[in-house]
Amino acid sequence: MIKKISSLCLILSSFLLLTSCSLGTNSKPSSLKEGISKTDLKNNKSISDEVSKDSSSLITNNKQDNSNKNKTSFTKIKGSIPVLMYHSIGFEKDNPVRIPADKFDEQMKYLKDNGFYTLSMDETYDYFSKGKPIPEKSIVLTFDDGYLDNYTKLYPILKKYKFKGTIFVITGAIDKEKDFLTSAQLKELDKNCLDIQSHTFAHEKLSEIPYDKQVKTLKTSKDFLEKQLNKKVSYLAYPYGKYTKNTIKAAKEAGYSMAFTTDGKWSDKSNGIFTLNRVYISGFSDMDTFIKRVNNPNY
Ligand SMILES: [Zn+2]
Repeated sequence: MIKKISSLCLILSSFLLLTSCSLGTNSKPSSLKEGISKTDLKNNKSISDEVSKDSSSLITNNKQDNSNKNKTSFTKIKGSIPVLMYHSIGFEKDNPVRIPADKFDEQMKYLKDNGFYTLSMDETYDYFSKGKPIPEKSIVLTFDDGYLDNYTKLYPILKKYKFKGTIFVITGAIDKEKDFLTSAQLKELDKNCLDIQSHTFAHEKLSEIPYDKQVKTLKTSKDFLEKQLNKKVSYLAYPYGKYTKNTIKAAKEAGYSMAFTTDGKWSDKSNGIFTLNRVYISGFSDMDTFIKRVNNPNY
């Protein structure tokens, strides 16, 4: 598996004439898996270290469903919603970006039992761009990279709870790498509960490549998905959460209308529609941590 994902990185890197696509060591390109693990570990730290938002704008909803076994009340900052960020649904020792299926199922059950409503990407866009009303306990589920287990494990769980989610896929891996989704699977997921959107062509750190290469990877990915899925693809998650002002410009030029970072907070209109935050859910997080993160913006 590691070897395979490493080879993906090499293939994608050489395709785009990059010398390395990850956090790289001197002589050999490190794996995509290693890259996302390190990045997310770093993000996890920044999440725990984050500064809370101004509590003066808090509106607290104490009207909890009586069936709620948990006493945590849902706190809302006006205009702010939790956009959760996951990657792989599975288990791998010491890898927090994979969350075991039973643990993920337990989290989804909690959301269902406690009256959460999962927003689609279009609903999320309408909310942030046009102020279209959404249910009070709205939440967004996102999954980065496009792992095969998003089809085999995630999809059945979301169907069971009648939830919606979005997968941001690395299109260079589609139909090419065995641990990633196929185009046939993308089509099935996209027609059902999992909206397919872009995570670039080769998972580059966009902040570190020239502007024209940024536009190219963003556009190549968008064009591929639009052709495969016969729909407009307008949303993007920056690999490793890396972006600059130029990246936002490149995303606009490539035709995107909304983008997400990996900054660990609830999403708020004030973030800017091309730099929306997301809440990282680690495979190591326990239920108490999960419950705090989905109920309180100041977790
Ligand atoms: Zn990624």
